[in-house]
Amino acid sequence: MSHNCIFSFRNIIQFMGIEVPEKYGGPGTSFFDSILVIEELAKVDPSVSVFVDVQNTLVIPLILQLGTEEQKLKYLPKACHEWVGSFCLSEAGSGSDAFGMKTVAKADGDDFLITGTKLWITNAGHASFFLVFANADPSKGYKGITCFLVDRNQEGVTVERKEDKLGIRASSTCPVHFEGVRVPKSAILGEYGKGYKYAIECLNAGRIGIGAQMLGLAQGCYDNAIPYLRERKQFGSRLIDFQGMQHQIAQVAVEIECARLLVYNAARLKENGISFVKQAAMAKLYSSQVATGATSKCVEWLGGVGFTKEYPIEKFYRDSKIGMKAKTAASRTARHKKKYWRKGTDVADFEKTLHSGIKDKPDHELFTIDRTPSAEVKKYTKRQQAALDKISRSINEQEKLPLPEPKAPSLKKQPKLKQVVKRVEKTLPKPKIGDYDLWEKDFVPKTNLEYQEAGDHMLLYTKKKLPKQPSTARFKPSLLDHVQVPHAGTSYNPKADDYEKYVTEIAKAETQLIHEEERIAKAGKPKHESVVTYAEKSLEETEGLVIDPRYSADGDTVDETNENEGEEAMETDEKIVISHLKRKTRKQKLNAAKEKKLQREQKRRKEIEKKQHDVFKAKSINKELAKTEQEVEENAAKRKKQKFLKKMTTRQRLGGGEFKDEEEPFLLQEELPDSLRRLKPQGHVLNDRLASLQKRNILPIGGPRNKNKLKSKLKRKFVEKRLVAEVIKGSRVM
Ligand SMILES: Cc1cc2nc3c(=O)[nH]c(=O)nc-3n(C[C@H](O)[C@H](O)[C@H](O)COP(=O)(O)OP(=O)(O)OC[C@H]3O[C@@H](n4cnc5c(N)ncnc54)[C@H](O)[C@@H]3O)c2cc1C
Repeated sequence: MSHNCIFSFRNIIQFMGIEVPEKYGGPGTSFFDSILVIEELAKVDPSVSVFVDVQNTLVIPLILQLGTEEQKLKYLPKACHEWVGSFCLSEAGSGSDAFGMKTVAKADGDDFLITGTKLWITNAGHASFFLVFANADPSKGYKGITCFLVDRNQEGVTVERKEDKLGIRASSTCPVHFEGVRVPKSAILGEYGKGYKYAIECLNAGRIGIGAQMLGLAQGCYDNAIPYLRERKQFGSRLIDFQGMQHQIAQVAVEIECARLLVYNAARLKENGISFVKQAAMAKLYSSQVATGATSKCVEWLGGVGFTKEYPIEKFYRDSKIGMKAKTAASRTARHKKKYWRKGTDVADFEKTLHSGIKDKPDHELFTIDRTPSAEVKKYTKRQQAALDKISRSINEQEKLPLPEPKAPSLKKQPKLKQVVKRVEKTLPKPKIGDYDLWEKDFVPKTNLEYQEAGDHMLLYTKKKLPKQPSTARFKPSLLDHVQVPHAGTSYNPKADDYEKYVTEIAKAETQLIHEEERIAKAGKPKHESVVTYAEKSLEETEGLVIDPRYSADGDTVDETNENEGEEAMETDEKIVISHLKRKTRKQKLNAAKEKKLQREQKRRKEIEKKQHDVFKAKSINKELAKTEQEVEENAAKRKKQKFLKKMTTRQRLGGGEFKDEEEPFLLQEELPDSLRRLKPQGHVLNDRLASLQKRNILPIGGPRNKNKLKSKLKRKFVEKRLVAEVIKGSRVM
């Protein structure tokens, strides 16, 4: 046993042959027990759990089910206490596609020579024997695959160094070479050429083992994380007291429990010889997902600590990845190559051969988790029995009667029966856990047939009636036919033609509406009593047919304003309202007409003058505007030009401070017509230097005082240097 392992070999070895019967030296317990052991070990160390898992769910079951007596006697007793076996199926080129293996077992007289390399073999580092899958007749394809029992100490067997893995690092996973390993015919496990079937079946059971391992792993990780959350305080509270944390913890706890139910269900089905392939796959898939999710959550919950190796959480996290990986082979291969199934690779066949006689088992043994013979059925008290009898009598009576129509008034009687059933249900002893199937749909205890019938009957007749609908609602035709549903992808914008048509129609309708409104308004207006010419009016007046209403009863005052109207009407012969007229002399009328004409003329002239004035005003405004616009444009152009010239002729400052040139530089155009070089007058060097220092942030850009100070400082230095140079120069000359 590897020293990496946290368990001593002596401790683990007692779990290595859990299912081995007592006659072969094992404890003779069940597959379910193996699953429980695997789960418990995984809570502490998944590597140890794998160690036990492979031995108990792959290696030993195969020997137990397929081995000859001789093989059983040779391997099983040792497998319980000393030897570890390995399951050698995967190869470099055949992982998921397990049956594309290259390892061959060539017949040589009565023996076979096994040649090939198996990869990823769990427990290989400690294994004393191997179950090797090799093709004994490659011409037959997968039907040549045969399973051999090979001892480690046989010539030609080499176990390589163990893989450096991400997780379950304490478990040894090594490549194993078989170099012409000679094995006798008696080393064949099961039948010749049936290895593929054994592998499929075996891996199906193995999935439950992986499920248990992942379940234990998730639980172990969770159990390690919770105490930390109880202790660790942040913001003055324990982490576990934050509701945000509690939601997550509850979610993980529920998921672990679900995984547990799936694993246990698959295990109990397998143990009782019922088809379990689907349930095993579900259990493995879900518990692997739960393990990955739960461990990831635990890492997060523990914050920085979770990420370190101080706590086992990160190890659980790494170990969880194996769940989605190992033992995914064979069945997938068989499924994607449909021909295998057509030729009868049915797992059910295999189950049949392995578990004959299962169908004869009583239900309570097959469908209960508790495998001990169920306790004697509880007898009812006299009162309970009487109630049950009463119900069954009533059912019998009901059955004799013709079946009532759903709307029959007899239904009203049913609540009575319902009440009775409820009452009896209350008084009945509650069914013990283990007496019923947890996964059964109708949760009605099966201990008493009459009682169940009563329950069914009750369900049938106490179905809730649909709420009453008004009769019109029922026959209301659907409006769906009238709704035009556009095709998918239809544009909701109308076409140009349709749009024009639509607009024209609207305009037409609107015009009609306006006309109609006008007509109604016209009809509503009071009509003039009569409309006549002035001549007709005068005639009527002289004849005394009409009396002007503006004259008072005694016939004096006349309204001045209306005086001219008569003249005007006479001149233009317009239609006038009779009620507004009064009698005037001819002269008066003529004068009034003249005056009015004059007034009109004056008014017209005034208007013309006003218009002329307005036009003149508008023209002058336009002129002024044009002038101002031109001025603005000219100014803008001027400014632009000046700016451009300034930009071209002066130095640009990159920094934020202001900088002014004291003297304009001039270009030596004759010498360098197209050059940017500038010749600066003497004294400009200082400015340049200052600017350069400021640009490079060596000197601060201060106000003029600072600037002058600096300037003088620089100048002094400069002058001093020059002076020294002159002195030296002068001294030399001298
Ligand atoms: C720790 C460990 C222990 C192992 N122990 C054993 C052992 O004891 N005995 C043994 O025989 N083997 C063992 N194996 C090997 C294991 O069974 C294989 O790794 C597994 O079958 C995957 O095969 P592969 O690695 O070749 O991946 P590949 O087959 O190359 O698959 C790579 C990926 O492609 C995906 N893929 C492949 N085919 C399909 C398909 N048809 N449809 C969709 N996806 C597909 C797979 O899911 C996987 O994600 C072990 C592996 C590990 C990691």
